[in-house]
Amino acid sequence: MVDSVRSCWLMLGILVLSGCKVTAGTEDDYYGGDGHYVHGHFYDARDTGAYFPDTAWGLKRDAAACIDETLYFETANERVRVYGSPAYSETTFRVTAAEMDNRIDHVLSKLRMSWHDFVAERSAHASYPDQLIACLSPRVSSTELSSASLAAVAVAPYHSAWPYDSGKIFTHHLAHYAQENLSRSVADHTLLPLWFAEGQARIIAGEPVAAPYQHYDYDPLWDATASQAGTASYRYEHYALAYRYLKRANGTLAMTLLLDLVQYMDWTGDYVGQIVTGESLAFVEAFNAMDLVDHRGQYLSFARFRADYHELLEASY
Ligand SMILES: [Zn+2]
Repeated sequence: MVDSVRSCWLMLGILVLSGCKVTAGTEDDYYGGDGHYVHGHFYDARDTGAYFPDTAWGLKRDAAACIDETLYFETANERVRVYGSPAYSETTFRVTAAEMDNRIDHVLSKLRMSWHDFVAERSAHASYPDQLIACLSPRVSSTELSSASLAAVAVAPYHSAWPYDSGKIFTHHLAHYAQENLSRSVADHTLLPLWFAEGQARIIAGEPVAAPYQHYDYDPLWDATASQAGTASYRYEHYALAYRYLKRANGTLAMTLLLDLVQYMDWTGDYVGQIVTGESLAFVEAFNAMDLVDHRGQYLSFARFRADYHELLEASY
């Protein structure tokens, strides 16, 4: 399994795009024995002073469940901390820490970043800039498994009930965690259009993408926010299709630099609010300033991408 994962990685950019299903989520014996657990220790924030971040701007409701919890497990490398009620099993703390510690590197490598890069580039307002904080949250169902906000990742608190494809779901939500940290500076809400955030997370997690010839079935770029989105579940595959078009034409690194430039636009304080179609001004300004191109190498403004999406997709395969 390790070899197939590695060979898949080496062909990243080809295999991921053509539906390679090998992701970090395939080690199903992961919870089987002590040997798979990360090393670490339990602490109490009342002793260490390392309280769960209570910055409301960086936490969604799910992760805010840990604000009053003082018990946490910290990995021996001091990179991951998992907070939660002492009512949850020690094993759940440990496997959650292991999942976070393993998969964040996976996610960052798909953004062409190291952990060190991430620490340097993430929001300066993150409470613990050189750590990944997780919360065992009763507000997350075992089916949902996980949800991300800038300050912490929320995780369902009973590991024995986690779904079979938990690895892929963790990877997806860690992608959202990375996006939020890399694209926000001071904003208290996401600055990324829904289609971009979900499309990128799906590509990073190796989830299904709509076939290019099906592009007429949906208008992904019209879904700038959740309130604009329809209910069709297949829309996520179209978000991934739209994101992948941009990524193929411009390269993965350009997508990471775009996140960084959105954060810069936020930091300047000059691009507050949304444009009329719902996208944040920071995102649109960054997109246009990146000198992104279409599949023919011609300059692609955000307005043209949105207006000519189907023409571009039609001509690209
Ligand atoms: Zn998502």
